[in-house]
Amino acid sequence: MRVVGTVAELREWSRGVRQAGGAVGLVPTMGALHEGHLSLVREAERRGDRVAVSVFVNPTQFGPGEDFERYPRTFEADCAMLEREGVEVVFAPGVGEMYPAGAAATFVEVAGLSDRLDGASRPGHFRGVATVVTKLFAASEPERAYFGQKDAAQVAVLRRMVADLLLPVDLVVCPIVREADGLAMSSRNRYLSAEERGRALALSRAVRAGEAAFRAGERGAERVADAARRELESAPGVRVDYVAVVDWATLEPVERVEAGCLLAVAAWVGQTRLLDNAILG
Ligand code: AMP
Repeated sequence: MRVVGTVAELREWSRGVRQAGGAVGLVPTMGALHEGHLSLVREAERRGDRVAVSVFVNPTQFGPGEDFERYPRTFEADCAMLEREGVEVVFAPGVGEMYPAGAAATFVEVAGLSDRLDGASRPGHFRGVATVVTKLFAASEPERAYFGQKDAAQVAVLRRMVADLLLPVDLVVCPIVREADGLAMSSRNRYLSAEERGRALALSRAVRAGEAAFRAGERGAERVADAARRELESAPGVRVDYVAVVDWATLEPVERVEAGCLLAVAAWVGQTRLLDNAILG
């Protein structure tokens, strides 16, 4: 496995892969890797891609007062995990490599979608995500790029970006990987105290409650959302950010729930904001 820090090295590797008749699969991450990230790597390998994983904590997707500085950075352990998975290249650029002119003047903004769900709570977040993912695509020219359904609003934003900008890359979306007790894996779970770790189970319970309401025949979006919200609101130490039932493509609220709609929740457990979701039906 090679660890590269420059766009030039990554691009050279990627072009070599293509010249040899291979396909590049890119797995963008911010590091602090867990089984959720590794599931993306494994899916890329299952499809026969030669895999590059980027590890970059992207400053432009964090707002003022968010956790950019204290975001967990565990690069050595990340590399050991990726080596075991047979990853070919780890791209770990410094901020100056990704933003060579310093503060960027050029951004990718997916209008509308970027202001919904997490975008409503974190202004500028999806602009930062769309911009850095575009740069990662430009640097690695992947045939496919792998993302987790865990960040379902991010998936919607990126799908729309790829369609609008005619980017020659297929997005592959992989299911949410959970701990044995149901908690969706997340790098931010490391922030949780033992007590908070227990409280955080309210998110997966909320999603399951919404799913159960849908399975029982409920088609009113508000009532499906209410079933989820009740779980969050009855949990001590948990503060709801949003509970939403939306069209997964547009992130617009729906009135009637149909199969394929997204039930998404975000909540604060102490100082930590966590996400969970399900595609209904
Ligand atoms: P992050 O490092 O948090 O930016 O995540 C990198 C990629 O891993 C994103 O596409 C996430 O959606 C995905 N991911 C994070 N957690 C999970 C999980 N529990 N299951 C599946 N994918 C995940």
